[in-house]
Amino acid sequence: MTALKRLLLIGGSVMALLASGCGSEDGSAPQSSETPVTEAPKVTTTAEAVTTVSNTTQHPVKEAAEYGKVIALTFDDGPNTTCTPKVLDLLEQYGARASFFVIGDNINESSAEVMKRAYDMGCEINNHSRTHSYMNKMTAEEIKAEIKYTSDLVEKYTGEPTRFFRPPYIAVNQTMFDSIDLPFINGKGCNDWEDKVSAEQRVEKVLAQAEDGAIILLHDQAANFQTVQALETLIPELQKQGYELVTLTELFYAKGIEPKSDSTPIIYSNCMQETNW
Ligand SMILES: [Zn+2]
Repeated sequence: MTALKRLLLIGGSVMALLASGCGSEDGSAPQSSETPVTEAPKVTTTAEAVTTVSNTTQHPVKEAAEYGKVIALTFDDGPNTTCTPKVLDLLEQYGARASFFVIGDNINESSAEVMKRAYDMGCEINNHSRTHSYMNKMTAEEIKAEIKYTSDLVEKYTGEPTRFFRPPYIAVNQTMFDSIDLPFINGKGCNDWEDKVSAEQRVEKVLAQAEDGAIILLHDQAANFQTVQALETLIPELQKQGYELVTLTELFYAKGIEPKSDSTPIIYSNCMQETNW
């Protein structure tokens, strides 16, 4: 683990400010996170059942034992009509699924259509706050309002509330863990919000951190085409290495783990971690 991660839970209320990316703005709102991801869904093989599953795309689509090595690609700071569709095109091309942590204030009629497309492809729409502010400086009421705004909008357009939360700037404190009823997600990143990090460097960094159960932190910010370029290599390479690219819900489900969404101060970069370091 990194020194940055080690910083995360040191201290009392203000736990950490990790310079972990997200150089833009967004928002979101959560709901109950009581989705029993460790509960096996009923899987049948009829065409009718398959259709039903595809209409509830945030659910795992097969038995946990059918998963092998899994990785969750996650994208922050959308949705938008420029970069997000290109990410979706690649996911579609390779039959991969991912999780999008959207900013509530980025959701409008046009970007919502892109978000709905992601959802309909089997991707997961998650919560990255409403305004993309430092939430460790907010009151509990302000924190809850940020989460609820985005979750309500996501539910309006997809029919499902958000299931996971990624704190803007990975800045967290205990008030946030107490106030947000969703599992907190960090991830293994490659500083892909920095223009100076080339597509090739993004590929190398992600591949170096690839492991079973890993959560990869990327950004589908409006002009982040270097990450799109990196994905053109990354997705097929990870698949070639035997990884199935799944949603966060699937990731935890595949490993039989129920992510903590209570006040426990844990923020996941791998679904199998038990502490932050
Ligand atoms: Zn962000």
